[in-house]
Amino acid sequence: ASGYSLLRDPHHNKGLAFNEKERDSYYLRGLLPPTVISQELQVKKMMCSIRQYQVPLQKYMAMMDLQELNERLFYKLLIDNVEELLPVVYTPTVGEACQKYGSIFRRPQGLFISLKEKGKIHEVLRNWPQRDIQVIVVTDGERILGLGDLGCQGMGIPIGKLSLYTALGGVRPSACLPVTIDVGTNNEQLLNDEFYIGLRRRRATGQEYAELMHEFMNAVKQNYGEKVLIQFEDFANHNAFDLLAKYGTTHLVFNDDIQGTASVVLAGLVAALKVVGGTLADHRFLFLGAGEAGTGIAELIALEISKQTNMPLEEARKKISLVDSKGLIVKSRIDSLQHFKKPWAHDHEPIKKLVDAVNGIKPTVLIGTSGVGRTFTKEVVEAMAALNEKPIIFSLSNPTSQSECTAEEAYTWSQGRAIFASGSPFDPVEYKGRVFVPGQANNAYIFPGLGLGLIMSGAIRVHDDMLLAASEALAAQVTQENFDKGLIYPPFRNIRKISAHIAASVAAKAYELGLATRQPQPKDLVKYAEHCMYNPAYQSYR
Ligand code: NAP
Ligand code: MN
Repeated sequence: ASGYSLLRDPHHNKGLAFNEKERDSYYLRGLLPPTVISQELQVKKMMCSIRQYQVPLQKYMAMMDLQELNERLFYKLLIDNVEELLPVVYTPTVGEACQKYGSIFRRPQGLFISLKEKGKIHEVLRNWPQRDIQVIVVTDGERILGLGDLGCQGMGIPIGKLSLYTALGGVRPSACLPVTIDVGTNNEQLLNDEFYIGLRRRRATGQEYAELMHEFMNAVKQNYGEKVLIQFEDFANHNAFDLLAKYGTTHLVFNDDIQGTASVVLAGLVAALKVVGGTLADHRFLFLGAGEAGTGIAELIALEISKQTNMPLEEARKKISLVDSKGLIVKSRIDSLQHFKKPWAHDHEPIKKLVDAVNGIKPTVLIGTSGVGRTFTKEVVEAMAALNEKPIIFSLSNPTSQSECTAEEAYTWSQGRAIFASGSPFDPVEYKGRVFVPGQANNAYIFPGLGLGLIMSGAIRVHDDMLLAASEALAAQVTQENFDKGLIYPPFRNIRKISAHIAASVAAKAYELGLATRQPQPKDLVKYAEHCMYNPAYQSYR
């Protein structure tokens, strides 16, 4: 290959870091200015230029340009500056990128599979340059973050998630495939936008939808085998639960909105109990919001309680109550409930208002997964603080504007007694001379390590016990020093190490359950995980 094309190949380009010998051997003389610099200096230079942008979307686009120019430098930057760049390549900025994806779309970074490709998906997959795929993140764009139906423009999500699989979990970039399934959109604004890049029709549903998804799922297995991990992302809840149930027995599938959220929140609860005291079974849980996140978390808590106490799952579920847009989920509503809510319909008087549910049920833990901001009012938080010495309050809805309450509200209204975590990041809060650092229940703590654990063990199915193992592994990474600051999640700075521990625990569970195909089992799974992780340092060419 010519030096010119080498500089245009993002997998091999090193820019000014090509050394003298490489410049001679690869016909690069004259194509680069004379200076040779290190990757470290390139990182420093890129960070300077990214920090100059005021607008987050410009930072995002600079990162995407870098990914297409020099892949190793992109990952080195992301890994070395994870706390600063995570909000750029993922939420919240990725949301804005999706909203504007039509106009910022340049080059394909993932596969678009629309109804037009029906009957040809097997061949479409072959158009992707890489053959050895280990992780697919797929969306149909119907519920992008808290932004609703963005149709085909949801593509930013699989791309962003997979860059975190690589940066945080060490999965090779060439083994990652972002996919957007386009069955239309019900977003009127997009349908009327002359620049919209997706199918200009209302969403296919029922059989038409199911058939396209089925063809996709089968084509994936045929092309990449049984060990490819398929992560469903940002599907609306009326499809998400069904897809997970349907393909959970035949494919290696994982839904981050349901299972990843559940695992990261359970980890936060397990850590919080070290501060508050008691076991999970000693606590009572109330949720605002009974969708993918809410019922997913509730189910994993119930499972953990039943494992810890040998209590039947049905009994464990009784410690958990959920409120949806119509009020407390109770028996008398059962006939009109969506199937994923039915297990949570307990014997109780109907209650409409959250504050009445708090006073009626007397929870020790209050979790917000409603997508509606300002719903943990002063009244609600004060009720929690009146009932509990250390109320656990998680307001998980994203983006920041939708958070059920702010960190400041949680600490102030509870006189500094709340153990608080949120979905979107909040700055530390000073209250009566003490500084409280709110935890962020970010799914990025779990899915990269979980994915690595599945891949390195050659797992063929995801089992709920693996989610529990991931939660335990994450909670175990919180140090006394973190607890002293009020943190119930470890700092992101150490995420590669955290991911390696999560991966090791997940892999160990896969071996224990007989779901691992990579034999023999490595002796030291943490070391093995670290050994498997992609390292973005440049390789020298000879
Ligand atoms: P979803 O499946 O659409 O569920 C939303 C639930 O909230 C539904 O049960 C809905 O009730 C209920 N709800 C809506 N408005 C309400 C109101 N005013 N009062 C009470 N309940 C109300 O959405 P999801 O996927 O679970 O996501 C929900 C939120 O969680 C989003 O903001 C998302 O960003 C956040 N989330 C955070 C994390 C994290 O922190 N790591 C992870 C995942 C999701 P009906 O069923 O009656 O409509
Ligand atoms: Mn999601």
